[in-house]
Amino acid sequence: MVNSRANLWALKELGVERVISPCAVGSLQEEFRPGQIVILDQFIDLTKKREYTFYDGARTMHVSTADPFCSELREVFVKEAKRHKVPHHKEGTYVCIEGPRFSTRAESRMFKAFADVIGMTLCPEAQLARELEMCYLSLAMITDYDVWAERPVDVGMILKTMAENMDRIKLLLTSSIPRIPELRKRCECPRALESAGA
Ligand SMILES: [Zn+2]
Repeated sequence: MVNSRANLWALKELGVERVISPCAVGSLQEEFRPGQIVILDQFIDLTKKREYTFYDGARTMHVSTADPFCSELREVFVKEAKRHKVPHHKEGTYVCIEGPRFSTRAESRMFKAFADVIGMTLCPEAQLARELEMCYLSLAMITDYDVWAERPVDVGMILKTMAENMDRIKLLLTSSIPRIPELRKRCECPRALESAGA
């Protein structure tokens, strides 16, 4: 029920050029462990009933999402994660499901075949940012293994992992943000609409 169009439009109106979006995810792979941060490079959108575009009127735009996250922001954050030894994956695919329910065991096993982490919030935020020519980065904090792992859910563990994750995310944000160049010269995000048609 998140109104992603309103949120991103408000940021654009305020003159925001770059969006860094931390989120909590479940893991679909053994080696993507709770407590690690994934600097995502791909997503698969399996949501069903959201508002996906600002161009639903007379004008139609087809932005490229081949590489849906800002290349320059990814580079800065990967470098800082390495420098501060933050447990992380420099790449990862996020499958976005509609929710609000969690996956069935069969769904979870299927998602495991083509994605690394799972959540409900990334889409369509990332593509809407692209339509507004804003840079967008997602930092996915792994809180637990999804249901495929057949491990009992331990709420205490999840809360502990989330608290540790928050400290790591804060460290990553405070060290990376000052290292982002002021002008956006090295990524394609500011020109996303140039080849998008109409
Ligand atoms: Zn960018």
